[in-house]
Amino acid sequence: MRFVSTRGEAPVLGFEDVLLTGLARDGGLYVPETWPKLSPGEITAMAGQPYAAVAAAIMQKFIEDEVPGDELTAITAVAYATFSHRAVAPLVQLGPSDWILELFHGPTLSFKDLAMQVLGRLMERTLARRGKRATIIGATSGDTGSAAIEAFRGRDAIDIFILHPHGRTSDVQRKQMTTVHDANVHNIAIGGTFDDCQAIVKALFNDHALRDRLSLAGVNSINWARIMAQVVYYFTAAVALGAPARKASFCVPTGNFGDVFAGSVAKAMGLPVEQLVVATNQNDILYRALQSGAYEPHAVIPTTSPSMDIQVSSNFERALYEAAGRRPERVRELMSGMATGGGVRLSNSEMAALGAVFSAERAGEADVTATIRTTAADTGYVLDPHTAVAVVAAGRVKRPHRQIPMITLATAHPAKFPDAVGAAIGSRPELPEVVKQRLSAEERYSVLANDVRAVADFVCARTRAGGPRP
Ligand SMILES: *Cc1c(COP(=O)(O)O)cnc(C)c1O
Repeated sequence: MRFVSTRGEAPVLGFEDVLLTGLARDGGLYVPETWPKLSPGEITAMAGQPYAAVAAAIMQKFIEDEVPGDELTAITAVAYATFSHRAVAPLVQLGPSDWILELFHGPTLSFKDLAMQVLGRLMERTLARRGKRATIIGATSGDTGSAAIEAFRGRDAIDIFILHPHGRTSDVQRKQMTTVHDANVHNIAIGGTFDDCQAIVKALFNDHALRDRLSLAGVNSINWARIMAQVVYYFTAAVALGAPARKASFCVPTGNFGDVFAGSVAKAMGLPVEQLVVATNQNDILYRALQSGAYEPHAVIPTTSPSMDIQVSSNFERALYEAAGRRPERVRELMSGMATGGGVRLSNSEMAALGAVFSAERAGEADVTATIRTTAADTGYVLDPHTAVAVVAAGRVKRPHRQIPMITLATAHPAKFPDAVGAAIGSRPELPEVVKQRLSAEERYSVLANDVRAVADFVCARTRAGGPRP
């Protein structure tokens, strides 16, 4: 399988190069040249299979012979053995036609583990085969950093540096990163905000000499391999509820649009998906764009679902590329309009193409709190605030066919957000015992100034990738 950039001006690459490259050199995102298809027979055969086996079968369609089948099967087997539930991504029923897909049974209790555990192992394999090392640098306000650290800790070919805003993360989220003591893990607390951290990471990637010398790699959801791994649970969930004979709908708590885009990939590959609901919190640029065609950023509002406090969702570019008939010149036009700050207007045909796949709903903070409370009271089930945004959306969206199950993705364990959940139900949810024990270890991190040079020097002095400093 070959991969092209949404902006059409970067080299066409194979899977392993896309895995290590992340963002395309023209600023675009890599997508497969064509969508591989699964026949109804292949989908039916997934029923009752272990999650790891279905994962290998789906990912093989994109990886082809770049990773042989037996090796890929071994990789997914060990990746998903780190999960604490035997089904990996189990379903829970909340109403006659309403289901929750629990994606938080991985080591850091958010859905990001499902992709990251595979990504870490695929990157390590490719680097080892090529006799190379890489340096991973990322900024985090929450779940991405811990999922990445957990996936890359102890890996021989990789050093990982994660920046977080000093004193501005939740206790649980910070400790999930800073209690990991492997020599290749470097936590950096920056004297600044999350935006400052992100600006530093961007500056390091834009320094092309540094980027090449240290083999900088990114692990945010612009990396195609993450999207690919997230396609899998749409299949396992729908199949468990009767696909391909019976359709399924999904409602997805959305920030950077990676997770819900993976749902549209499942549909493009042949899964019978009826509705795909983009659920946003008050940071509702996607809701507004899908309603009116005006794609316009506003200022970010902090909410109780911080992993969705995003205005410009990088993966939306992949959906725009499809909606624009895969014309990179139109994507370049839209993205340069966004870059100048004012926003852009989508055409009628683009709106029709998006509307054929996605619908959108938004939830305010009061709705989220009320939904956590009433869901707990009515069913005994405790939602995290991100999942609650989507439960609100699933309750609001028009559903012409009640016999089609609505599957809401639960993206985090409620104990990751004890303040917001406690405020809704009156008691703070408990972390699983293994996680609690791990978080009692000593914290280790370095505090650096909000300064690109200081971070560059720190990384260069510690990474094992690249040659001597010029
Ligand atoms: C990252 C995250 C999201 C948003 O996912 P996207 O793929 O960025 O849309 C939602 N919920 C939680 C808990 C997350 O960590």
